[in-house]
Amino acid sequence: MGIPIRALIYCTIFLLLHPWPSGILEAPGEQNKQPSHLEICTSADDLISSIEPDRMLAHIAQLADEYGIRTAGTAGERLAANYVAAMLEGYGYSAITTEPITLDNGLASRNIYADLPGENPEIILIGAHLDSKPPSPGANDNASGVAVLLELARVFKDAVPPYTIRFAFFGAEEMIDSHVEHHHYGSRNMAGDSGLIRQMYAAASIDMVGVGTELWIDNMGESDDFWRQLIFDTAGEMDLPVHTGEHRAWSDHEAFEYSGVPSAWIHWRDDPEYHRETDTSDRINPDLLVSTVELMIRAIDAIQPMRNF
Ligand SMILES: [Zn+2]
Repeated sequence: MGIPIRALIYCTIFLLLHPWPSGILEAPGEQNKQPSHLEICTSADDLISSIEPDRMLAHIAQLADEYGIRTAGTAGERLAANYVAAMLEGYGYSAITTEPITLDNGLASRNIYADLPGENPEIILIGAHLDSKPPSPGANDNASGVAVLLELARVFKDAVPPYTIRFAFFGAEEMIDSHVEHHHYGSRNMAGDSGLIRQMYAAASIDMVGVGTELWIDNMGESDDFWRQLIFDTAGEMDLPVHTGEHRAWSDHEAFEYSGVPSAWIHWRDDPEYHRETDTSDRINPDLLVSTVELMIRAIDAIQPMRNF
């Protein structure tokens, strides 16, 4: 395994611009204001050590308690989209894209995404849907996935992952009426971009990761299985109670898998309050959120270690 050249260059430039603080000339606590070298020249363990569960719980409280029901194409979903865009901007992402989507009921939804350049321009997409199914405020489904994705975007920001990572916040995952095909609008819209699909290495949907006792890594058996297998194996190495083998299409991995991209759905089961008014933030287990963030970092690192020097 060679030294990741891009990471080396990036870290060298950073070290030249920001030499180690002397500690003598600074006021007490001053050093905390600058990112440390470890935060910039990072490894998977560094990223994992910077996971903050309270941040994720705060995201879920904002989305599920403050905004509440986030039906696709309504003000609640728009507020959630604006919230994640503001968070990404705050983490330092400069190119945040809004992708408009028209639903079959005439309402307008949107995807929000940001790309983090990696060693390789091929893309690993990690997605989570912003909307909830009325009358549910969707704390677990899927403010939990949004919170995990925001935390991944935050801890990865100054890393150089082996592949470019797209953090994709999808609109309109839930069914908007009784028509069986009237769902997964955001992911299907993005997967309809054939140029993007040609660039893609893998896709993961983070959907319902705050409640339950079993971690499930599923896909539909429709594309190369290596990504599901890699995440499953990684979860086993972490001693998580991981399961697999069911073919499920009920999340945003579906469109990417049908487009031939190796895909997986990461979710914890079971949640008896799924799609009910009682899917509220007080039921969220922060340990599951942290485990899910760690799992995705370790799975990406298992493809190729993020830093080896
Ligand atoms: Zn969901």
